[in-house]
Amino acid sequence: MTMDELIAHAESLGMKVKWADLNRRAGEVRRSGLTLINHRKSETTQRIALAHEIGHWVHGHGYSAMHDVPRDELQADTHAAHLLISPVDYALAERMHEGHLGAIARELDVDTRIVQVWRDHVLRRAAASAGMAAVRSARHLRAVG
Ligand SMILES: [Zn+2]
Repeated sequence: MTMDELIAHAESLGMKVKWADLNRRAGEVRRSGLTLINHRKSETTQRIALAHEIGHWVHGHGYSAMHDVPRDELQADTHAAHLLISPVDYALAERMHEGHLGAIARELDVDTRIVQVWRDHVLRRAAASAGMAAVRSARHLRAVG
C-alpha cells in the first residue's frame, strides 16, 4: 500500500493519523486511536511506521501488564509486512534480485526487517492456506535460488 492508502485504511479502522517530532521513535499509537508518525524520518520509514502501528491497533496491543513486547512487535511487523508487500510484487522482486535481501527491500521500498518478516511469516502462512500462483512461484524461486 502507498502512504495515502495506508492513511485511508487506518482511518477506516478508527485511527487518526497525525505527524509529530517523536525524536528517535518512528511512530506510536495511543489507546484513543491517535497515531503519531515522525515527520523527520524518511518517507519509507514513515510508511513502515504507520503500517506497524496499524498492526498494533488491529491486534489490540496495549501497555498493560499482559503486554509481551517481543510478541507484540513481531505481530505488528507481520501485519505491516502483509500491508506493505503484495505476493505478486514480492515474487517479482525476489526473481529480479535473486533473493538478495537488501535489493528486494529497496525494490519494494521497505526495510530488510519487513522483507525478512514477510518471508518468515506472511509468505509461509499464505503458502500454507492458499494456493495462490504468485506464492507458489515465490516459493519455487526461493527453492531454486
Ligand atoms: Zn511497535
